[in-house]
Amino acid sequence: MERQFTEEIRSLKLGDGEIFHGEGILAVTKALLQSGVSYVGGYQGAPVSHLLDVMVQARDYMDELGVHVEACTSEASAAAMLGASINYPARGAVTWKSIVGTNVAADALSYLASAGVMGGTLIVLGEDYGEGGVVAQERSHAFAMKSMMWLLDPRPNLATIVEQVEKGFELSEASNTPVMMELRIRACHVRGSFVSKKNISPVVSTRNRLDGPPKEWIYDRLAHPPAIFRQEKLKSDVRLPAARRFIQEHNLNERFPGSEAGLGIIVQGGLYNGLMRALRLLGLADDFGGCQLPIYVLNVVYPLVPEEVISFSRSKQAILVLEEGQPEFIEQEIATALRRADLQAKLHGKDLFHMAGEYHTEAMVRGLARFLAQHAPHLDASSGSRWLESVKSMKEKAATLLGTLPQRPPTFCVGCPERPVFSAMKLVAQDIGRPHVSMDVGCHAFASFEPFSQGNTLLGYGMSLASAAGVGPMSARRTVSVMGDGGFWHNGLLSGVASNLLNKGDGVLIIMKNGYASATGTQELISSPPDAAREVAVGRSSVHADRTIEDTLAGLGVKWLRTINNYNVGAMAKTYKEAMTTGEKGLKVIVAEGECQLERQRRLRPFVSRQLSEGKRTVRVKYGVDEDTCTGDHSCIRLSGCPTLTVKDNPDPLRRDPVATVIDGCVGCGLCGENAHAAVLCPSFYRAEVIQNPGLLDKFLFKMRSVFA
Ligand code: SF4
Ligand code: SF4
Repeated sequence: MERQFTEEIRSLKLGDGEIFHGEGILAVTKALLQSGVSYVGGYQGAPVSHLLDVMVQARDYMDELGVHVEACTSEASAAAMLGASINYPARGAVTWKSIVGTNVAADALSYLASAGVMGGTLIVLGEDYGEGGVVAQERSHAFAMKSMMWLLDPRPNLATIVEQVEKGFELSEASNTPVMMELRIRACHVRGSFVSKKNISPVVSTRNRLDGPPKEWIYDRLAHPPAIFRQEKLKSDVRLPAARRFIQEHNLNERFPGSEAGLGIIVQGGLYNGLMRALRLLGLADDFGGCQLPIYVLNVVYPLVPEEVISFSRSKQAILVLEEGQPEFIEQEIATALRRADLQAKLHGKDLFHMAGEYHTEAMVRGLARFLAQHAPHLDASSGSRWLESVKSMKEKAATLLGTLPQRPPTFCVGCPERPVFSAMKLVAQDIGRPHVSMDVGCHAFASFEPFSQGNTLLGYGMSLASAAGVGPMSARRTVSVMGDGGFWHNGLLSGVASNLLNKGDGVLIIMKNGYASATGTQELISSPPDAAREVAVGRSSVHADRTIEDTLAGLGVKWLRTINNYNVGAMAKTYKEAMTTGEKGLKVIVAEGECQLERQRRLRPFVSRQLSEGKRTVRVKYGVDEDTCTGDHSCIRLSGCPTLTVKDNPDPLRRDPVATVIDGCVGCGLCGENAHAAVLCPSFYRAEVIQNPGLLDKFLFKMRSVFA
């Protein structure tokens, strides 16, 4: 990864009384060190990638503290790492994107939760839920409940988040239970400050090593029969009461008073900021957290503490529960607590708010207004209605002014090496017809959108080949599975390739070997190009130096295996067509090789600016379209979809169709030329070299060309 986290690493080193400024997720990272964590692992994914990325880059400092950091190959390996805390007083933390990562980690988590922990364990979950989410919309809450692990959902305020991390470890130790902490996108990126403490060197660490296995061998620490039966009882009889005691004694949940004592709002901690904004818009709260309605903030959403729920609700006529997503686990638990205590407060929640989807400000204002209309008609909340009206009229005005806007689906970066593969597939489909395409998680999933529109299923990271297993034998045409190298190492090798070979399957697998887990921020893989090769390749177009994927596939028994340079569209199309039509049985794998352009540009940019500042000659390749030759049929755009290949008005007054044009930003990947050649398009593309700090020969040639032009 070429991105540098120098500033972030400096923040991690802050000591007692110094002020930390930054984002929520970095505050969590600092809080782990303040808590004396012994080991940290995880798998990257928004919005928590930053935690692991910064720690990996701060390896020297982690070594100094004795903290072991591991960039795991999947969430399952990260979860299993927490096994270190079962027998030893070592605090451990892992992180990943949920719900998908939690699904992958589920097996190890079940066993961990059953065995219980001695050292505190914290699982930091990037809760990718809501309008910015990119994964199946489910909640981590269900996992916490079914395994009986505790779930923190801290109020998005840096000091609170840090305190919850520190208390989370203590809670875990006090109840011998793993603790999860869900952080929504906004909580990860919320900015603020807190007074830091000095980092603690862990009790057990790479500098203070264990001298052997535990002195006392305890069978109960294995999640194995008959211990599992006792462990299940321990969960509800011992660990749950211990957790509730700790939550209560240490005030992990918060109560904010309000003058309307007959009403109350119970809110998930993560939603608190949105709730306060909505109440401000309704004229019921100020900018400093003061509010007319009493609020009970659940920084711990599982387990609830019935005594706290009852004491908050006792003198109230109506309670509103704000719980995002479905089903309404918290509301149901509160209903049970109120009923058991025979409290008659009217309970609202999903009856006034939508069941599925994010609770954004508009939804909050609308739902709160309904609640107030029923239970506090004396309060003047008319400013909320005016605000809702203004939002509505602004939307209507925008719709009138703009009309229906064209969709802008996400797409590959400019010059991405994966785009040419889909160009080749599109070209071949014209000859052999469209096949069933199993997509995977990763940048290549952008090909599901226009102009490629390829991809029929998406079932998880590294699962494309496995998900084609049922379709292939029932299809007249071979199926195609596309997978990134990140997905290949995460799950694809075993779930896909090994299973296909075991079952003597057929089909075509395309592995995008771009060198990194690009979609999550270009983290390194076991097959990433070695540093030395990247150094040598600084001034070159790409770096191809690793054969680990090919060697692994060959070792496993894949017979039909080709590695092709992605940018060579003709060769890619020919190989792909051969794979789709050959009579040879068995899995056919095309390793599509081309370095991630994002990573390449990160490496090249500082190199080029150094060259320029030193007055050295630099050459940048750029493609262009001759507007006189362009026919205006735009087949080049339909084959590429590169954002820098677009259209402009036709300069010829006698022609109406806009012509294609290449705008600034083209990185000269060469796809335009390749597509024009492979698809026999009009000869309007040209390749130009933009020379900065030209030499004598360049100047001479320029003069000569100017004379004869
Ligand atoms: S991050 Fe890399 S692989 Fe992903 S779209 Fe951009 S260039 Fe392509
Ligand atoms: S050569 Fe074409 S496809 Fe490549 S970056 Fe330039 S405009 Fe985009």
